[in-house]
Amino acid sequence: VLRADAVHKSFNGTEVLKGIDLDVAEGEVVCLIGASGSGKSTLLRCLNLLEQVDDGDIWLGDAEITDPRIDVDAIRRRIGIVFQAYNLFPHKTVLDNIVLAPVKAGGRSRAEAASTALELLARIGLEDRAGAYPDALSGGQQQRVALVRAIAMRPEVLLLDEITSALDPMLVGEVLDVIRDLRTEGMTIVMATHEMAFAREVADRIVFMADGRIEESGPPDQLFTAPQSARTAEFLARHR
Ligand code: ATP
Ligand code: MG
Repeated sequence: VLRADAVHKSFNGTEVLKGIDLDVAEGEVVCLIGASGSGKSTLLRCLNLLEQVDDGDIWLGDAEITDPRIDVDAIRRRIGIVFQAYNLFPHKTVLDNIVLAPVKAGGRSRAEAASTALELLARIGLEDRAGAYPDALSGGQQQRVALVRAIAMRPEVLLLDEITSALDPMLVGEVLDVIRDLRTEGMTIVMATHEMAFAREVADRIVFMADGRIEESGPPDQLFTAPQSARTAEFLARHR
């Protein structure tokens, strides 16, 4: 469903993505791992058109989304993204956070969007917090709401950028549980993560990035136990 073809991206003359080829199949969970600065976030931002690629192209289904004539907002409705922190609008209730995009951009009625939102909140055990403001929730609860808000738009692909890395370790598990559920439901997910054990459990494929390139990629069992590249092995040895 989502494909990057020779994607290059520079910031101020420094090349940060040096020709990325990535093909994500429907229902596949791909985990991006790699050292800080290797380009994981930049790649996710390019995939969601938050950054403009310098060279190469990106396809969503049979649409080339890097075509300058594309409707960027329409694409962002089809590709959800959740970041590390500060995802929710602080001045809106939990319910309003979730309902906003489906009503404003998705053309749904408020009643329909609210009923879907309450159902989604029930699934993460937060239906009783619908009227609360984000700062009254724990970080883990906020990230679960952010995930639910992203899937309320029924995106074809969900991009997750280190969504547990700002959390108290106690709260990481409840957020990972939501990702497990999404995977079971067949959601296509590309996530950057430092949670190696989780990546190994949940991913269909691990992509190891180094210096703006994909150094190695493969099924978790292969990549974690028998990495082909010395650089992958060295990274994994430092991140257990
Ligand atoms: P981390 O694990 O720390 O999140 P990452 O793999 O996500 O790292 P990126 O955030 O993609 O890495 O950054 C890759 C490189 O691009 C870094 O050297 C970073 O400083 C640079 N970079 C990213 N965004 C910008 C920007 N908007 N302007 C200038 N440089 C940037
Ligand atoms: Mg990053």
